[in-house]
Amino acid sequence: MNLPGAPFLAYRGESLYLEDCALDALAERFGTPLYVYSQAAMLAALAPYQRALAGRDHLICYAMKANSNLAVLQTFARAGCGFDIVSGGELARVLAVGVSADRVVFSGVGKTREEMRLALQAGVKCFNVESEAELEVLSAMAVQEGRTARISLRVNPDVDAGTHPYISTGLKANKFGVAHERAVALYRRAAGLPGLEVVGIDCHIGSQITDVAPYLDALDRVLDLVEAIEAEGIRLHHLDLGGGLGITYTDEAPPTADVLISALLQRLDARGHGHRMVMFEPGRSLVGNAGVLLTEVLYLKPGEEKNFCIVDAAMNDLMRPAMYEATMGIVPTRLHNASPVTYDVVGPVCESGDWLGRDRALAVQPGARLAILSAGAYGMTMASNYNTRGRAAEVLVIGDQAHLVREREQPAELFRNERLLP
Ligand SMILES: *Cc1c(COP(=O)(O)O)cnc(C)c1O
Repeated sequence: MNLPGAPFLAYRGESLYLEDCALDALAERFGTPLYVYSQAAMLAALAPYQRALAGRDHLICYAMKANSNLAVLQTFARAGCGFDIVSGGELARVLAVGVSADRVVFSGVGKTREEMRLALQAGVKCFNVESEAELEVLSAMAVQEGRTARISLRVNPDVDAGTHPYISTGLKANKFGVAHERAVALYRRAAGLPGLEVVGIDCHIGSQITDVAPYLDALDRVLDLVEAIEAEGIRLHHLDLGGGLGITYTDEAPPTADVLISALLQRLDARGHGHRMVMFEPGRSLVGNAGVLLTEVLYLKPGEEKNFCIVDAAMNDLMRPAMYEATMGIVPTRLHNASPVTYDVVGPVCESGDWLGRDRALAVQPGARLAILSAGAYGMTMASNYNTRGRAAEVLVIGDQAHLVREREQPAELFRNERLLP
């Protein structure tokens, strides 16, 4: 059986383990639905990035929107990472774990004035600015706060990352970044605005990319710009090449991080830019295969056209199948000899879009538990309270130790901020 997340995720006898913790035992102890993450798997995913960048001036900024649990942030902070944030809320999280703001870059097309103010006061390393209008507002805010905003412009290299339309971000038709043709003029504008200091350039072309080629195309386009911008006398200190490296959910075969980074560094050197500080913003590739979502089978419902396996996790816990028609592995936490039946695995939410897996061959009975694989990225962070369902608990395992890193949300918490009419 193909288990993305191996060797940290593996059957021992008939029981599925994450590191040295039996997942059934965790489900019993903490209840379901339950997210479980392996710290060793996260660090193992980070290692090839670090290896490939050793000896270079670099910063790996974990894109925390993939999984922003404080314990996950702590794990990456202790491993030496910086962070890529996209909101004031994410800024509050990194500051809460004691990360120094000079390791934080702030991305996103819609930063509010209040978010800019908080980030200026904290002293973030760089604002990745995505439009001329944002440049002007940021300049005004920096002057008002008596601070300097270090900026890079996110340029849109107009390359097709070959991924799902919802997670492709580097095409002209996307809302992200500034057009390649406009970039030099905007850098000139930025250099003339008060309160701003130009420090770099960045791009991010999409997510779940399984090929090196679009990265190299984007890098070439960015380097063309770097040369044009510096010809204007504007110095660029760093290059931020974004994130987006894909993972194996089922049969994808993305390059490993060291293969990708080495190819990029080689191109950088070949074009005479090897001296620059380089930054990357990986999210999914650091955490995706480090986590599973555990769920219990509630009912089996045979049908004329389909059999349904109704479980206690739903689209509110894990949006990826409903939102992107994503396919994620689903395996039992305990192997049985019974012959498998083909089911659609669905949740209790009142939507036909509430499915977690289609046409899965499973040998299960009510009360059995399933592990939805590769759920460490864009799982919990996209969870909602739809149907007034409390969000799942989260556990981080280190060896044979299981740490509850987020308690299960209780119903009363869900309407605590609501008010009855007089
Ligand atoms: C989402 C995002 C990332 C991380 O993308 P992954 O596909 O999770 O690696 C990096 N940079 C920016 C600006 C992003 O929006």
